[in-house]
Amino acid sequence: MTDDQDFTSHTPLDSVLGVASARKVETAFGYTTVGQLLGHFPRRYMEIGELSKISELPVGEDVTIVAEVKSVNQRRMHSRSGFLLEVVVSDALGPEQSILRMSFFNGYEAKRDLQVGSTAMFSGKVTIYRNHLELTHPEYSILDTAEEADPRPIPIYPATAKFPNKKIRETMELVLSRMRPEIFEEFIPEQVLESQRIPGRATAFENIHRPQTVAQGYAARKRFAFEEAFLLQLALAQRRAHRMQQPAIARHGAPAGLLEAFDGSLPFTLTDGQVLAGMEIAEDLVRGHPMNRLLQGEVGSGKTLVALRAMLQVIDSGGQTALLAPTEVLAQQHYQSIKKLLGSLGAGGELGSDPRATRVDVLTGSAGTAERKRVLLGAASGETGILVGTHALLSDVVKFVDLGLVVVDEQHRFGVEQRDVLRSKADTPPHMLVMTATPIPRTVAMTVFGDLEVSLMKTLPPGRAPISTHLVPLQLPRMQERLFARIAEETAKGHQVYVVCPRISEKAVEDDFLPMPVELGSNDASSDASAKPASMTVEKMMDILTTMPIFANTGIRALHGRMASDEKTEAMNAFDRGRASILVSTTVIEVGVDVHNATLMVIIDAENFGISQLHQLRGRIGRGGLPGTCLMTTWLDAEHPSVVRLRAVESTTDGFLLAESDLNERREGDILGASQSGSRSTLKVLRVMKDAKLIARARDAAEAIVDGGGGLGSYPRLQAAVEAWVDEDMQAFLERG
Ligand code: ADP
Ligand code: MG
Repeated sequence: MTDDQDFTSHTPLDSVLGVASARKVETAFGYTTVGQLLGHFPRRYMEIGELSKISELPVGEDVTIVAEVKSVNQRRMHSRSGFLLEVVVSDALGPEQSILRMSFFNGYEAKRDLQVGSTAMFSGKVTIYRNHLELTHPEYSILDTAEEADPRPIPIYPATAKFPNKKIRETMELVLSRMRPEIFEEFIPEQVLESQRIPGRATAFENIHRPQTVAQGYAARKRFAFEEAFLLQLALAQRRAHRMQQPAIARHGAPAGLLEAFDGSLPFTLTDGQVLAGMEIAEDLVRGHPMNRLLQGEVGSGKTLVALRAMLQVIDSGGQTALLAPTEVLAQQHYQSIKKLLGSLGAGGELGSDPRATRVDVLTGSAGTAERKRVLLGAASGETGILVGTHALLSDVVKFVDLGLVVVDEQHRFGVEQRDVLRSKADTPPHMLVMTATPIPRTVAMTVFGDLEVSLMKTLPPGRAPISTHLVPLQLPRMQERLFARIAEETAKGHQVYVVCPRISEKAVEDDFLPMPVELGSNDASSDASAKPASMTVEKMMDILTTMPIFANTGIRALHGRMASDEKTEAMNAFDRGRASILVSTTVIEVGVDVHNATLMVIIDAENFGISQLHQLRGRIGRGGLPGTCLMTTWLDAEHPSVVRLRAVESTTDGFLLAESDLNERREGDILGASQSGSRSTLKVLRVMKDAKLIARARDAAEAIVDGGGGLGSYPRLQAAVEAWVDEDMQAFLERG
């Protein structure tokens, strides 16, 4: 260990803590340097305030006591799975020995920490339970002696069994006491610190770990949240500024061209939202720098049509366009609906087609050699105006003569990098239109898609029948029979039914391409996940349905991501054309699929899906003017937190509202798509929803700097910080962005 010099953020932890302890830190948290360790921030602080005596506890108020553990008792719960840990304590300070009961539901940590005879500081709200006072799930911090009780707030860190909170605090103390403030070099300009009223870097590091008051701790947290938002927004602002300097070919369209012919042939009128978004896009396309626009719209609002009109404007200007879809099913659907919408205008290259017509092709990974050749040639010769496809479009062999517009559908599955690959297929950067599957709140758009302009469509085309959504609690008697009867009733009317299952088969853990949503509200792997019955699979549901007499004469098909692509296309076509009345599938049908005759969607074990996913799923029905019904089944009790989430979906069809509640309850990593692999989320401190205002301020501050006189270059330290941050975190982030 070094004794004679100060630590810097690069100091390796083993020279600070010794090899054995350093290894423990690395195992627990993955940190190897002082800087990484100092970036391990408390989740919150335990508010100490005045210490109370057990005999004088005020009911309904927050109190802090120092007490000794007298007994610990574990009880099973009758009504729900899990256990209750009852801990009885008595005053540890002063002569009084009154006792108090505390309870911890599924208190794994408490069971580990609170041994009989140990002393701890507890804080929580005083409640009355069966005529006794009690603290339910209090915060606590173990003390060596009662006298150790310190009036300063106690930071509560994310901890592990082998590296508990107390040990983290001791380690932080050790490190901080050896850091001189100058080590923490400030990079946020003075005027920004002042206008944001946030502490400098050195103060913030000290105060987040060793605050004198809770307010100090939170002020420090705010600094780091702002820092993160600021660096992100600076990086995004730079991308925007960079793009503004790039040239692009203005695509003015042509009088009496394809677009005009198409508009004239449309069997319906555009919605106000489509008109407005269409104008915004049309204006972008005639500028001399590349459009980079996000088209957000409620499920079913008609985004494809808006994108198609933009493509036609570009084709009218002599350019080609590409539409990138996340799955094969969706690429095929887009291809078919574009062909259908265009009619003879999309029959370019075919015998006797309209002279204005353009050629539309589709390219997916499963295309045969001859077909692939034909499609590649069409694009490379410039004949193809619209090339729809999956990732296959990103391949090197795909070449265009003049790629003028790239449309990316259901953006969150594609990263910035992939957009860049497509961009590179044109000599001059093409215009870019990104469409999201699910509406996202403004601040999230600002964070996740910060370098894009946003167009919004809230209105649905007229004649859209309402979708009613109902929760079906399967544990109630006869619910299952009624469910199947309901399906039969619908198919008897000649309508079609989706049955969505969470999994493909017992064997397969993975889904088609969607990560399973994280079990909400539990970071504790040992909690009751195992108590749930295994969720339904496509295979099992196929077995059930195909052997039921009521469905003996009903066409039933399965669709999931592990089927060969011609099987997938066949199944989808069979359903689309009405040869199958029931489609049993996974979430492959979540996005974009458009079968007008489908009126009922049954989502099995719906608690397995996220709010936005459920909303997206039910958007597949009620599309042909026939009212739609969505039934979400679950085996869970009515009070289960996941059922509360399902209620939200049941209660409203406003996608923007649902997106907010969805994001509110998710962890950031899930919003950003970063933590699915189990790595930490890219945003450490920032909470995209809670810190909405702060993000907006950071964006303004970032723009002021990037667009100001000397740009970011006049703040060398800040520039270096942005670059370092981009290298470390942003890369991973942008790749998913
Ligand atoms: P989403 O925005 O969810 O991608 P789509 O683009 O799939 O929605 O459109 C949903 C359906 O609405 C399609 O069948 C499309 O042809 C139809 N549609 C689009 N615009 C209109 C309109 N203005 N009037 C009537 N139907 C429309
Ligand atoms: Mg769509």
